[in-house]
Parts: sequence; structure tokens; C-alpha cells
Amino acid sequence: MKIAIGADHGGFELKKNIIASFADAEFIDVGCTGPEACDFPDYADAVAEKVALGEVDFGVLVCRTGMGMTMAANRFQNVRAALCLDAGTAELARQHNGANVLCMGADKTDAAQAAEILTAFVSTSVDEAERHVRRRAKIERARRLSDFSGLAHDDPEVYAAIKAQVTQEDTEINLIASENTSSRAVRLAAGSVLMNKYAEGYPGKRWYSGCLPVDAAEELARKRACELFGADHANVQPHCGSSANMAVYFATIKPGDTILSLSLDQGGHLSHGSPVNFSGKLYNIVPYTVDRATERIDYDALEKQALEVKPKILLTGASAYPRALDFKRIREICDKVGCIMMVDMAHIAGLVAGGAHESPVPYADFVTSTTHKTLRGPRGGLVLCKEKWAKAIDSAVFPGMQGGPLENIIAAKAVCFREWMQPEMKDYAAQVVKNCKAMCKAVQDRGWRIVSGGTDNHLFLVDVKGTKGITGKDAAAALDAAGIVVNKNTIPYDTESPFKCSGIRVGTASITTRGMKEAEAALIGGWIADILDDITNTAVQAEVKAKAAALTAKFLVP
Ligand SMILES: *Cc1c(COP(=O)(O)O)cnc(C)c1O
Repeated sequence: MKIAIGADHGGFELKKNIIASFADAEFIDVGCTGPEACDFPDYADAVAEKVALGEVDFGVLVCRTGMGMTMAANRFQNVRAALCLDAGTAELARQHNGANVLCMGADKTDAAQAAEILTAFVSTSVDEAERHVRRRAKIERARRLSDFSGLAHDDPEVYAAIKAQVTQEDTEINLIASENTSSRAVRLAAGSVLMNKYAEGYPGKRWYSGCLPVDAAEELARKRACELFGADHANVQPHCGSSANMAVYFATIKPGDTILSLSLDQGGHLSHGSPVNFSGKLYNIVPYTVDRATERIDYDALEKQALEVKPKILLTGASAYPRALDFKRIREICDKVGCIMMVDMAHIAGLVAGGAHESPVPYADFVTSTTHKTLRGPRGGLVLCKEKWAKAIDSAVFPGMQGGPLENIIAAKAVCFREWMQPEMKDYAAQVVKNCKAMCKAVQDRGWRIVSGGTDNHLFLVDVKGTKGITGKDAAAALDAAGIVVNKNTIPYDTESPFKCSGIRVGTASITTRGMKEAEAALIGGWIADILDDITNTAVQAEVKAKAAALTAKFLVP
């Protein structure tokens, strides 16, 4: 058994006695080393850090009352420090609260009592009864107010805005296909001091001094991205998905060159050539469309068009395409045309990372992505490419289009990539798709037409106009009133204005993050149909909203 132990001058003598009298343990003594006056939080931090890192089984802290040590140690997440005055309290602190740091007060506790308390503490196991597990989990919950409580004091107005977002995430059913809920670890890295550093350039080749810490973070992000996706090279600096795409265009083609990409109103993205976006202004964009009958990409038609148009880049990937993409077939087309194969996997990156969608990486010259959609990381962009493009893409990002990178966000990307290397993320990715199919079927079974007849990924599109003559805008507003958040979306060959749209887009990444499975997904699908069946019926909306609140209360956002 390993115990980290620390004390200030008030607890110095008792600490010595504890170490001498307790032969069962290997003590790691963090100090202090003499009776001279010192500051207790320094030792509380040293012990609490070892407990948080998992380097020791327990921590022990001693000062005169034990109270200052308890307060300081409890500032660490996953540290539960308990002030114990007798063996009985020590037992309960372990059993119920899962305490892992024992604090004692030298004024009230002598060496014999201390040995008795410590024996009780280390020999009592933690009670795994459901109610205790639940209560302990609530202490450590990532989006407790205490997580960002520093702002309550420093900036109450911003605190209120963040608290409102926390409440919203807790209580709504978020089905926005491009959103997800990042982990505390991702958010901690994103909010870290790495944001303070200017680091123009790349690890080992920076324009500023003092870049060793950010070099370490960016190197981790690049290495992990390559390992996770099996890529030759990764550039983790793009601030967002759109700038990742811009970087690829800048690295490969000239203004006026031709890009063949999926039409925006059929599921493509702004940065794939919309006339209001830089991509549409700088390049000659030729859109391809899905097949009118199947509402899927017709690869033979795409090949024919590509051979006619002779684009420099064939760009696939979408914001609203519910079907699997055939990357092998797309590679064949690119080889026949002699053009660059670029895949924007922004929406499906998490499914690719978790093995629930085929990876484009072995086929494509470039794969771009966001890191915040199914990938569940911080808001940001990513480019993966073959080795021969490494230099070109790096110069396109910096100095081509960006200055200093956001190293805090890059660190958060590294955290996200590591999370995806854990085996349970494979289950997550598979569950996102299972949930999507279950929800889609529930809506479809109630008579609503689903674009392309179903889904292979994390999203599906409901043709609300075609089914019942309502607009996507009105459908989304009615669902919102019931606590179900989706977005209006154009569907292939849409006859409505882009402001109103004929469809809604529904995604399951976020509800899967909070632990929902097929049963809940199907239930929500039924509620969606309840609302859509009569979008002006506010009584049904109120009923669903109450049911949604009861459901979300059972599935805490982690
Ligand atoms: C979301 C998305 C992007 C860009 O995302 P931003 O980070 O908002 O710039 C790019 N491509 C596709 C296909 C997307 O869905």
C-alpha cells in the first residue's frame, strides 16, 4: 500500500509518529521537513496531486486542526479529503463517500489515535451500493457548478451565461447532428494556460522562444491524430473545419481552378463552394447532385461528370448526407480523372475513429475534419494527408493563412484523440449509429418520409414538406417548444426557400454521449412524430416536454 503523506509545522510531529508506527505502508513523504513555519496548501497540493494522478492508494494530511488541509486538498478533482477525529468517522468517510485522503488535526489527535484512525481508513472498502455510487458520481460530475465556479466570483455575468448553457444541455434533447458534448478533460485542456503562448510555426521550428510546453502538446496531438486515423501526416492547427478546407485548396490549386463538390442544398458544406463563401468566390465550383430517385450519390454518374469536368479536386463529404460513402469507388474515379481526392469527414470523423464508418484515410490524398462533431473534441479543424503533401499543407496553414495557433485547443484535440484510443469509444460510435437507425425507424413507421429511405450514420433527414406540407422551419420550432432541438435543413431537389426548407436534420451523437440507447432513441422518435403530426398543438408539445424532462433527468450529461 502506497500512501502520500504531508504536514505543515503544526502537524510535523504527528506525521513523524504516523510514519514510524504504521509499518504496513510505503510512505511518500512530501514534507514539511522540520518544525519551521510553512504554508499548509503547498503540502495539501503535493499529496492531492499524487492521489489525482493515481500514483498512490491514499493520501494523509496533518495540520493543527486538519481543516485547512481538507479545504485545500478538496480543490482537486477526484480527490475526496475527509477530516476524521475518530475511527468510526474514518470508516464512514470511506464506505459512503469513497474518501481517498485522510486529514487529521494534531491538536485533538495523539499518535495512538492517529494510528487507529488510519487503520480504520485504509482497511474499510468503499460501498458500491447504487445510491452511494450515484451520490459519489454527483460529487465528481463534470458539469457541476463547481467546475466553473471560479467565474461566479470573478465575472458573474459570464458565469450566468455558462450556467444557462449547462442547464440547457442537461434538460434538452439535443439532436443537432453537428453537435456533441465534450468531456471535462477536453474542456480543461481548452481552457488551460496553453492559450497564453504565441507559437507561430511548428514544433521544433517556432518563431518565438519558450515554446517547449506547447511543442509537447502539439507533438502529442499530431502523433495521436496520425495513430488514431492511420495517417502519414497531420496538421492540427486549423481553427475550424472551413479553414482546414481552405488550407487544402491553398496547398494544391490556384484561384480559378475547378473543384467538383456536392451541391450545398443537397448536403454539401458552405466551404465546398457556396457562392457566398470564399470557396465559391475563389474557385470554379462545379456541383454534383444525388440521384433524384434514390437520393444517394450515383457513382457512375459522378464518374461521367468528373471525366467531363476534369476537376483538379474531387471533394466528397457532407453536412447532411445520411448514407455511407464509398471511398474505394471515389478513389477509382479520381485515378481515372487524375485529380486530387479530398474527403471532408467533419460529420463522420467520430464514426471513422470508432470503426462505425469506413475510413477515407487509406484512399484520399487529403482528409479534412472538424474535431467537435461526432469526434466529440474541442471546436476546431484538422487535416490529414499523405506524406508527399506534408510540407505543402503545413505552409498553407502557416504562414499561408493563419498566424499563431490555438495551442490550448490543440492540447484539447490531443486529449480527444487519446479518448478515442480507449476501447469503449468503439461501442460509442456503434451505438450512435444504432440509435440513429432506431430513431429514424420510429419516425418512419409513423408515416414520415425519410430522405433516401433511411440512414447508415449518425443523422437522418425527414421530408416534412413532402409528407405533410409543413416547412422545416415550422417543424423545428414546434419540436423546440417540446424540448427537442433539431435544425431545419434543405433536402435534395428542395422546392422551399433555404430559409424555410422542406426538411429537418436529426442526429444522435449527443444523446448517445449521455448514455441513451435504442429504446430511448425510439421513444424520442415517437415523440418527434407526435409533435409533427400536429405542429400547432401546444398541449402535445407541453406533454412531450414533460416526458423529455423526465427522460433527460435519468441520463446525465457526463
Ligand atoms: C461543419 C462542417 C465544416 C466546417 O465547420 P466549421 O468548423 O464550422 O468551419 C466543414 N465541412 C463539413 C462537411 C461540415 O459539416
